[in-house]
Formats: sequence, structure tokens, C-alpha cells
Amino acid sequence: MSDLAASLESSTDAPDLTGATPMMAQYLGIKAAHPGCLLFYRMGDFYELFFEDAELASAALDITLTKRGKHQGEDIAMCGVPVHAADAYLSRLIRKGFKVAICEQAEDPAEAKKRAGKTLVRREVVRIVTPGTLTEESLLDARSNNLLAALGGAEGRLALAVADVSTGLFEVIAVQPAQLGAELARLSPGELLVSDRRLDEPALKALDGAYDDRLSPLPAARFDSGAAERRLRDVFGVGTLDGFGAFGRAELSALGAVLAYVELTQKGRLARLRPPRRITAGSTMAIDAATRRSLELTQGPDGGRTGSLLAIVDETVTGPGARLLKQWLSAPLTEVAAIETRLDMVDHLLRQGGLRQGLRSLLRRLPDLERALARLALGRGGPRDLAAVGQGLALLPEVGALFLHADLNPPPEGLARSLDRLGNHAALAEKLTAALIAEPPALARDGGYVAAGWSAALDDERRLRDEGRRLVAALEGRLRGDTGVGGLKVRHNNVLGYHIEVTPVHADKLAADDRFIHRQTLGSAVRFTTVELSDLADRIARAGDRATAMEVEIFDGLVAEVLAASAAVAEAALGLAEIDVAAGLAELAEKRRYCRPKVEDGTAFLIEGGRHPVVEAGFGPGREGDFVANDCDLGPGNRLWLLTGPNMAGKSTFLRQNALIAVMAQAGSFVPATSALIGTVDRLFSRVGAADDLARGRSTFMVEMVEAAAILNQATERSLVILDELGRGTATWDGLSIAWAAIEHLHDVNRARALFATHYHELTVLAERLAEVAAHTVKVREWKGDVVFLHEVVRGTADRSYGIQVAKLAGLPPAVIGRAEDVLHRLESGPAGNAGGRPDMAALADDLPLFAALAPKPKAALADPAASALAEAMKALSPDDMTPREALEALYRLKALSAGG
Ligand code: ADP
Repeated sequence: MSDLAASLESSTDAPDLTGATPMMAQYLGIKAAHPGCLLFYRMGDFYELFFEDAELASAALDITLTKRGKHQGEDIAMCGVPVHAADAYLSRLIRKGFKVAICEQAEDPAEAKKRAGKTLVRREVVRIVTPGTLTEESLLDARSNNLLAALGGAEGRLALAVADVSTGLFEVIAVQPAQLGAELARLSPGELLVSDRRLDEPALKALDGAYDDRLSPLPAARFDSGAAERRLRDVFGVGTLDGFGAFGRAELSALGAVLAYVELTQKGRLARLRPPRRITAGSTMAIDAATRRSLELTQGPDGGRTGSLLAIVDETVTGPGARLLKQWLSAPLTEVAAIETRLDMVDHLLRQGGLRQGLRSLLRRLPDLERALARLALGRGGPRDLAAVGQGLALLPEVGALFLHADLNPPPEGLARSLDRLGNHAALAEKLTAALIAEPPALARDGGYVAAGWSAALDDERRLRDEGRRLVAALEGRLRGDTGVGGLKVRHNNVLGYHIEVTPVHADKLAADDRFIHRQTLGSAVRFTTVELSDLADRIARAGDRATAMEVEIFDGLVAEVLAASAAVAEAALGLAEIDVAAGLAELAEKRRYCRPKVEDGTAFLIEGGRHPVVEAGFGPGREGDFVANDCDLGPGNRLWLLTGPNMAGKSTFLRQNALIAVMAQAGSFVPATSALIGTVDRLFSRVGAADDLARGRSTFMVEMVEAAAILNQATERSLVILDELGRGTATWDGLSIAWAAIEHLHDVNRARALFATHYHELTVLAERLAEVAAHTVKVREWKGDVVFLHEVVRGTADRSYGIQVAKLAGLPPAVIGRAEDVLHRLESGPAGNAGGRPDMAALADDLPLFAALAPKPKAALADPAASALAEAMKALSPDDMTPREALEALYRLKALSAGG
């Protein structure tokens, strides 16, 4: 799809129209004006695609490719999707990275026919659907934001702006080139706009293709910061932007590009974006993409929500609440006061269980205010969205009342602020509720949603229409009497409108009566009309049309009123989302027995009884207690923990649980521990050795080293570093040396708090050499030759790695296990090896007979000179013939032989 990746507004070469039919000429003109997009060209009840578009779409959607006429001697490829099912097809195309221009008929075909000569229906593109600018409920995930991002730049600086067209979120942050990857990982935008001049920017190149499928290059002019400033002032109706924050040129450039793109794709309709908010760099914990993946913060192992931290902590009951929680968790705070404000909110609602339950059952009834509002602002909303706003606003006073009644202590600052946001919209809520029926339809154009009693004029028209229907019913009775045909019926369909229907047997009777005008003969029925019936039908239709027109006018008026209050309504929606998040986190804390963490400036890190939130929850109801809680103190003197222990002992789990506890605490959540004291973490790094990244064509080891480099170059004294098996991707001695040097660097230079799990026991000597390094191990017990994992982290080092026992648990064939035990024995004690030295593998291989796996021999028959000498000597002994003294001497001899002497 090389052409489609092009800019949405790049070269608009005039198409070659030679020999084109008028319709094709229209199609080609519109197509040329929207390069980079598939064109959905409306024809009646279908969106049709032609030429290359048809080929691409039919392949992507797996629908039939057909032909329609010829253009310049060639068949025109065509495929189409029915309008009523278009959303489903759109969603698939967008997910595959296409952009789609929706071209509608801009007039009624009947209008076009009235024009002399030209009967081609006028068509125009009403919208360009791109991954970052979706608003349809059916194309969006209710529980996450869909972000459009733009990378702006000026004066040698970079900035990222993001907007969620479906909720109004609009933010900007200045970024250092090295932080671009981390910021993008936090935001995870659906689409990233970049100036075509910036495509070669090193910061972009460093992303290594991770965003290629979401990249939309635009002409550099779209990123002009001067134009952006003017446009922002216009759109938000202010003389200066200072009230929103002190934006630099780079930030303006990014904001302007987002705004311009929204206008471009929405064809001039401006989404209701909130005034832009400036996020200060450093106000949130920096977490790069690899760390997010490794900790599975918002995405589980298979890329979905399942298995992620978010899935476990999300107890919210509304879409906006779920989206806000995801933002909190993706961007933990660093400022103690701000974190405490959130924790106070959660604490309050944890203590006030009744209030919390009341709030949660109220919020469950809350529609998605933010998205309803956004659709209305884009002219894409319907009566159902209007009703949603009405219902949402109507709940606001109830929320306030719950706080008043339930609560003797005043709510803490954060909740008070959320309550303030709710505002008072009683008048608008009442109006919407009174104006609309209880469950209005999605579309405004067909009417049928304004409540009776709202407009006297509308009620009159409806009465006329309904009276007409009654008159029709009366007419039917009368005609039956007149004609004597008891089975005569007056019916209605979309083609004929009202008509009289009789079975063919009675047709002649009516045909003979000149009051009846014949309309249609079918196999089973003959249809007529009369002058009286068509008059009535006209009356009904006219009254119906007038009623519908009135309803649409009322709808438009109400929409205008809602939009006039949109800033305040959006604020209320945000307040409700905050309350939902706080109540959800309180619910979580109670349900899972979490404690309130204490956060402070400084570098303390003391977790008592810490648990892994996801692993613990995975044990299932009633079995959470089976998770073994562990302490972790990375305070002065213990800043760097070296953790040894066999595979499967629980090292990774322990490492990650401490990182997750830091994330949760700084996001404002209670944490899975009995107590937690955390000096705020500015950057979090988590790496697991030997994770293949074949998709990006790097070797395991290369990935590991790139990631280790990022840590050693960036970690500060306030950072938290989790390193799991660094150096596993290369040969033992290489790996050990790299791990060794990395620990020294972390200890002496970065001075970060760190947890370092390793299977290199040799490294534990560092614990004696480096002041801040403490050796810990995960306890196991050996029982009848098997290992039992106790999952308990204690001071000390593992005496051995129990790899073979674990392999046995995993079901390796007994022959392999036996052989491995032999090799290990030789490595550890044979003449070829010595502690800390490099075993002479060639000598070892000579010693160990080949093909042992094929012909396993008893242990004593190993070609070990000592062992065979021993066996020989034993064979020679005859215990029955020995005196006790001889027996003792024989024992000494055997012992000497076994020691190789
Ligand atoms: P390692 O990194 O040492 O190979 P893992 O951390 O992957 O081990 O843990 C292996 C398994 O042990 C986990 O899947 C989990 O089921 C269990 N486990 C780990 N830690 C604990 C614990 N503290 N309490 C109970 N089970 C645990």
C-alpha cells in the first residue's frame, strides 16, 4: 500500500479523464483530491470502490472483486460494501492501516433529475476516517483512549501533541529526542503525524520502525508554529494562549498540526477539543517501551488487556473512568503532593464504604458523556447521544447528594475538586429529559424521538397524521361495505404508498367501478387506489414530513444548547470519571487487601509483605493466600540486590512485583503489601534477558545489550532498575563479565536502586566487594532428590542452581537427566575444572565417552580412571574373610582411590 501511505494532501495531479463517463469523471476528480485514501463512493445503498482501491479493499476485506464497464479500454475493477454494514468494514480497513474518504451523495437523486441535461448526483467527501480520528462507538474501545499524536518541532526542540477526538482530550509535552520512544510508549497513539521533512530525524529513526504502520506524513507547512498559534487563538476564542500554558514554538507546531489534521479529516467540522494542556516533562515517571512490555502494565502477554496490571486493578464502572485509570497507570506521578491527593481520594472512599457503593451503583447507570458530546460536536451525533447527555447531567445532583448525606467528614481536596467540576446543569438536564422520549433512535433524520407534549405545533402535525391514518382505516370499512368485498384491505408499502388490495377473484368487480384506479397486478393480489385515498395519503405524508422537519429542528436546537455548554459538560464528565477511578481503586484496595503506600522525596524503598498483584490474582478466589509475601528494602546500604536462586523459584515474580508496587503507588493506588515506603521513582527500567525480537530482526543478545545500554546511560539516583538475567544471551563467560561490569556501573555511577536476578552464583562475590550490594536468594528445599520451591526471599546466596532438578520436573527423559548429572559432576569436581576457573572442555569431552545417551551405562562403569579403579578394588574385596582391622584398612584404601590418589 505504498501509495496509500502517502500524505493525505500531497500532489493532486489532474486525472486523465479522456473517454471517461460523467460518473467516472466525477469519481476520478474526487479520488485525485484525496490521495492516500481509499474512496468509499456512495451509490444508492452501497459504498463502491473502483480501480486499485477495489483491488486493495477486496483483498483486505475478503470480498468479491467485480467489474463495472471500461475506462480507457480497460475493465474497471469494482467492489462494494452495503451502507448499513459499513462500520464493520471500515473498522477492519482502519485496523489494517488504511485511511478511508467517505464520499456521500450531496443531493437527492430526484433533485439531480430535475436539472436539465446533467443528471449526475452531486457528491462530496464528508469525512476522512483515519486511525487517529475515530468517533464511532463501534470502531472504538470504550475503555481506552484513541489518540492522534503529532510530532512538532522548532528551534531545535521537539514536542508531542495528542488529541482524542472522541473525548476532547488535547495535550502537549516537550520531549528530548532520547525520550521520544518512552513518551510514545506511554501514549500509544493510533496515528502519529510527522512533517515529511522530519522523516529522517534521528529520534524517529531510533524508534526502529515501531510506529511505521501508524505514521502519517504531512507537508511541513502543516507544522508551522506561527499559523498554529493564530489557529489555536481562533478556535479557543482567546487573544493569547498564555492562559493555557507557556507554549514553546515546538509545542505550538505540534498542537497546530493536530488541530489542522482534525479539521482536514472532519472536513471543516471542528471536534470539541478541550483547550490544550501542557504536560511538564518530569512530572510523570519515565517508563520506556521495553519496560512497559516487560512489566505488562496495560497489555498482557498476548497484546490484549488480559493478564496486564490494568486488567487486575480496573474496578471502574464507566468507560470514561476506565480510560482515565489507564492514563493514571500509564503515567505515574513523581510529585509527592499530587500523589498524596490521589491517595487521599482513594482512602476516603475506602473508609466510606456506603458512600462508595452508592456512587458505584449510580455511576453504573451513567452513559459515556464524553463520547456522546464529541459525536454531537462533529455533527455525527443523534437523539440517542442527546439523551445520553441528558441522563448523564441528570445524575450529577444525585452524586453531590450522596456525598452530603453519607459523609460527616468533608471530602479531601481531590474529591472536592472533582465535585466542583460537576457543576450545575439541572436546567439543561431537565430540558433534554422532557424533550426526548425514553429510548430515542440513533438517527435524527427519521423523527420519532421528541416527546409528546414538548411542542404544541409538533403535536398538532402528529395529530393530523394520526387522524389521517384513522380516516384511512375508516375508509377501508366503508369500501368493504360499498363493494361487498369483505377481504378488501388498505395497505401501505414503500413503493406504492397507501393502496387498496383485493384477491384476483374480486379484481374485476373493482375494475368495473370507475372510482378505482388500477395500480398493480401480482399473482396473489390486485392493487388499486382511489382519489379519496390518495388525498388522504398526501395529507398523512405532508403532516408526517412537517412533523419530521419540526423534530429535526428541535433536535438541532437542543444540540446547539448542549454545545454551548460543552466545556462545562466535558468538565462534569471528567469529574465523574475521577470519582469513578477513586471509587474503583478503593474497591480494589478492599477486595484485595492492599495497603496505602507512603511516598516521599528521597531514595527509600521499603516494602514489607509485598505481593505480585497479577500472579496473586491468578491464584484464583480463596487461594490468594498461597502467594508467599516478601519484603524488599533497597534503602541505604542495600541499594542493589543480587538475587540468586534456581529457575522457577520466583525471582522474576519478586523483581516485577516491586516495580509494579512503585508504579501503582505513584499512580495513586493502594498496593499489594502490608506496608510500603517509596521515595518517588523518576525513571523505571525493567529488562528481562534473552527475549527474542525476531520481528524486528535483531538477535536476542543484541536486543539485550541495546536495552542494557539504555539503562546504564539513563538511570539516575532516583531511578529503579530491574534486571532479570542480564547476559544470558551470550556465552557464559562473556555474559558473566558483562553482568559483572554492569553491576559495578550501576553501583558506582548510576547509583540507582536496583534488583538484579542472576543465575551466575559467581557474581555474589560482589556483595562482599561493593558497599551497597546485598546478596539475596529465593529459598528452595531439596526433598528426596527433587526441589521444592518455597518462594521465600532471604539474605544469602543460592548454593547451587538446581537446574537438573527443574529439568526433571519438566519431564526431560531420565536418560538425559542421568547424563546431565554425570557431566555436572565432572565439571564440578573433575581434574578439568577448578572453582572460578574455566573448565578444559576438550579434556572433559575426552573423558566423557561419546554416545552415552544411546547406551547409558551404570554410573560405576564410567570411563573415569578413579571410578573404575575403585570398582576393581571393590570387586577384589571379600568381607566374609576380613578381620575388622583389615576391613578398616580396606575402607581407607577405597577412600584414597575415590579421591583420585
Ligand atoms: P524464576 O524467575 O525464578 O524462574 P518465576 O518468578 O518465573 O521464577 O516464578 C515461577 C512460578 O512460581 C510463578 O509462575 C509462580 O506461579 C510461582 N511463584 C513465584 N513467586 C511466588 C510466590 N512469592 N508465591 C507463590 N508462588 C510464586
